Amino acid sequence: MTLELVDATNHAPIAGLGRRVLDGVNLTRAEVLWLFHLENTADIFDLLSWANRIREQFKGNKIHLCSIVNAKAGACSENCSFCAQSSFYQTGSPRYGFVDPEPVQAAAEEANKNGVTAVGLVAAWKGLNEGPMLDEVCDRIRELKAGGKTRPDVSLGLLKHQRVADRLKEAGVECYGHNLESSRRFFPETCTTHTYDDRLETIGYLKKAGIKICSGGIIGMGETREDRCDLAFALKEIGANVVPLNILNPIKGTPFENHPPLPVMEILKTIACFRFILPRQEIMIAGGRTVNLRDAQSMIFLAGASALMVGNYLTTLNQPVEKDLQMLKDLGLDPSWDHHGFSDQDEAGCGCGKAGCRTEAELTTAK
Ligand code: SF4
Repeated sequence: MTLELVDATNHAPIAGLGRRVLDGVNLTRAEVLWLFHLENTADIFDLLSWANRIREQFKGNKIHLCSIVNAKAGACSENCSFCAQSSFYQTGSPRYGFVDPEPVQAAAEEANKNGVTAVGLVAAWKGLNEGPMLDEVCDRIRELKAGGKTRPDVSLGLLKHQRVADRLKEAGVECYGHNLESSRRFFPETCTTHTYDDRLETIGYLKKAGIKICSGGIIGMGETREDRCDLAFALKEIGANVVPLNILNPIKGTPFENHPPLPVMEILKTIACFRFILPRQEIMIAGGRTVNLRDAQSMIFLAGASALMVGNYLTTLNQPVEKDLQMLKDLGLDPSWDHHGFSDQDEAGCGCGKAGCRTEAELTTAK
């Protein structure tokens, strides 16, 4: 056997970028794009170890757990190419109207039993307007809130009026799920029945209402590394509090059914790069975890993930919650939160040069 020396050329530059993130500096797009393009396995493991340090510095050993309830399934008017619930595709996914109180309470009980912070009510429709459906949605949120078992999150599509966001806030919504899905450039490849700007408009109403933002996307849809990098910067720009990263699980009958899976190391590298861009945010690994990562699932935390979607997804299965909880215990990670108020996301300064934000030079002097 001949021994080959490992090329360590990139070791120091990766460490240099990692240290700057630990110091509170915002990296540039070019710097992170260089990380996205690392190919060598030894370099990717270096990257993961720095992403892990960044997670530990900004998030400690706490892991935020969320679960979801499919609150209105199938027959959606939108044509998102990855989605089993679009009425454009024949996928065999279930269809039903807005959920009754009992299944929601059952989900809250289950979440509470497993120490899950939040239960999200997710509806497969274009969006929500004022009217009887909004009243019913608000009833479900109030019931969940009054039960005191879990934080009631929602993901209810596009909002077209500030009043709807305000009413959701009044009913008790603290956090709203609304993914950007991908970069602005790639978004039209995933959906043509609404636009990226429609999604940004909704996020604007939510923020004005004082609702926290859970927004991320899906990787493995045919987008480039540049698209993934741009998505992460866009999520930073909108001030996403929780960033769910889904990995495409190609659904038979959808336009993306034959997409080849992303290699595991590419997925882990992407999570790590997101952590470099979003050091204080919850980076949550959501749909497609089990099927795409298989035995490498626990490595998402080494790659910088700080949150986990547990329980089944909207139309696909996940591994049992007990297995996830055991995985966290084995890694010395703690999923228990009394109340996750997102105060760990307050920034002392990010080096952007805007009013109130410290520059890189100031951060260096302050050390
Ligand atoms: S992702 Fe949402 S909006 Fe798009 S088709 Fe599926 S349920 Fe409808």
